[in-house]
Amino acid sequence: MEEGFRYADELGPSRIVHVYEPSVGLKGILVIDNVAAGPAIGGLRMAPDVSTEECVRLARAMTLKNAAAGLPHGGGKSVIFGDPHMPVADKARLIRAFARALGDVSDYIFGPDMGTDEVCMAWVRDEIGRAVGLPRELGGIPLDEIGATGFGLAHVVDVAAPFAGLSLPGARVAIQGFGAVGKHAACFLAKRGAVLVAASDSHGTVYDPQGLDLGTLIPLKRAGRSVIDSPSGQKLDREAILDVECDIWIPAARPDVVREDNAHRLKTRLLVEGANIPCTPGAEQRLHARGVLCVPDFIANAGGVICAAMEYHGASEQAALQAVEHKIRENTREVLRRAQAEGILPRQAALDLATERVRRAMSYRRHSLTSGAPGHL
Ligand code: NAD
Repeated sequence: MEEGFRYADELGPSRIVHVYEPSVGLKGILVIDNVAAGPAIGGLRMAPDVSTEECVRLARAMTLKNAAAGLPHGGGKSVIFGDPHMPVADKARLIRAFARALGDVSDYIFGPDMGTDEVCMAWVRDEIGRAVGLPRELGGIPLDEIGATGFGLAHVVDVAAPFAGLSLPGARVAIQGFGAVGKHAACFLAKRGAVLVAASDSHGTVYDPQGLDLGTLIPLKRAGRSVIDSPSGQKLDREAILDVECDIWIPAARPDVVREDNAHRLKTRLLVEGANIPCTPGAEQRLHARGVLCVPDFIANAGGVICAAMEYHGASEQAALQAVEHKIRENTREVLRRAQAEGILPRQAALDLATERVRRAMSYRRHSLTSGAPGHL
């Protein structure tokens, strides 16, 4: 099979664009997976170590996430190779050049992701007029500032907890990755009585079985420091977050952090996927076999994109958060109910739900896979 079609299936990807502009040191990739439901919304990631394959998988996750959330948008993802902490003028130059290069790809709407934020989206909007997750001054709902995804995760945990035999007050939470998603999830969960016992970032893990102080950790991160600079708690290496005794484990950092070779280290009852594709399929199966309930990424972390889509359609911040709460709670309940009733993994139940919706949207297109009524698909 041709290199470019290696990852293709009946849903997509519909387009893979490689952008290379040596004059500004720009190397980037855009993958548009499926746009049957509407123009793709998906984040722009900046990281030194990404690949086309990762981008394809992330774009598919967006198709499924947007479909599962019932949004009139398809899925896509873009990446720029680079250190997200580079000087801001260099970052602006790269992101602006990338946006200009993709200016005519009108069925892709940029959003923020790892290594990018609302300021980056303002640069994109300035160049091509097509971005969500904008600063307030530009009519945006700043997703990361208000913690839309972390807000959604707390609702997922609230709905999923009884399915895992847990109650939230007093439940012990460990969070891998203390950035936009992780720290807001910690705060929203603390409001529901859960106790953060461990948090990690790229520098290491801080652990305290009695509970960590969010009032210390959040300002540290705001000041650009690490959770391991906290004056209290035990300091452990980055991987040690996997071994922490807890009730709820939330990955909110990188892909493939839980794999077949390390899934046995997790000591939790509920795993809620804040990051995109944090667990390999084999790892999810192993956890399921051990009775650990895993809520898949494209159901659990849809808060940001629901908020972004609401912004794109002109909704207020309050209406956007209400939509996050409503859609995420409904979807989590439906997926876990189906999984339980059919004796299947939550990911399979979520895939069935989302794929049904994508196929229905595809049936309305001129070149649909089948020409029958949606019910026949
Ligand atoms: P971020 O850049 O704000 O934070 C990432 C955090 O992870 C940082 O604290 C960083 O130090 C830490 N980290 C990096 N590598 C690590 C490692 N190996 N071990 C432990 N920690 C590590 O990013 P974010 O916006 O919080 O996104 C985190 C994840 O959530 C990504 O997978 C992203 O795709 C996904 N996600 C984000 C949103 C959103 O609204 N921001 C929405 C959906 C999904």
